Order: sequence, then C-alpha cells, then structure tokens
Amino acid sequence: MTDCMFCRIAKGEMPATIVNQDDRYVAFRDIHPHAPAHILVIPREHVRSLNEATDAALVGGLLLFARDVAQAESIGTAGYRVVLNTNGDGGQTVFHIHAHVMGGRAMKWPPG
Ligand code: 5GP
Ligand code: ZN
Repeated sequence: MTDCMFCRIAKGEMPATIVNQDDRYVAFRDIHPHAPAHILVIPREHVRSLNEATDAALVGGLLLFARDVAQAESIGTAGYRVVLNTNGDGGQTVFHIHAHVMGGRAMKWPPG
C-alpha cells in the first residue's frame, strides 16, 4: 500500500534504522522506544492487523523472526516481550501488522 508508512519503510522509501531483513520480513528500531531494546518486526506483505491475517506461515515466521532479533540484540537469555497490538483497545496505531520486540529491562505485568 502506497499510503502505509510501514510498507514504505519495507520498500526503502522511508528511512528507518533497520536491524535485520530478509525477503519476507524487516526489523527496525521503534522511533519512540519504550525499552532499551525496542524493535518492530513487519512482514513485507501488507496485512492490516492480526485480525486480517490468514497465512499461518506469515504469522509464524513473524514470531520466529522476532525471536531471532531478540537473540541478535543479546536479550534472548535475559528475556524479552513480543507484543502484537490489535485495533483500538489493543493500542494499535499503525495498521500494518507488526510485532514489538522489547527488552533490556524487566517488563511489568500486566501491561497498561
Ligand atoms: P502500535 O501502536 O501500532 O502497536 O505501534 C506502532 C509503533 O510504530 C509505535 O511504537 C511507534 O513509536 C512506531 N512508529 C510510528 N511511526 C514510526 C516511524 O516513522 N518510524 C519508526 N521507526 N517507528 C514508528
Ligand atoms: Zn503496509
């Protein structure tokens, strides 16, 4: 989608601090980090949210890519959180499915 910010990042049309990418996924640093490590992982394919996802391989691959990002950030062993905010009450503000990978500090539970 041309009017989607994350599609534009995936295509290299908009700057972002990319930490890893392959032919299906792109991981880049959140512009407003809420933890010492705060990375967003997106599929290159535009999917509005988890509600619209139909491809189990795409969603499963997103999680494994997020896991690999956490390992590369050296937060895998200490622990980290992977979050998919979905729609309004879930706190989603960008409507291209993405996983937040957060770590580098102890996460609180429950989240706000
Ligand atoms: P959501 O609220 O939809 O779960 O998460 C969207 C995230 O995207 C937010 O944490 C926000 O800080 C981040 N974000 C919004 N615009 C940009 C941008 O232009 N670049 C980057 N790197 N992150 C962004
Ligand atoms: Zn998009």
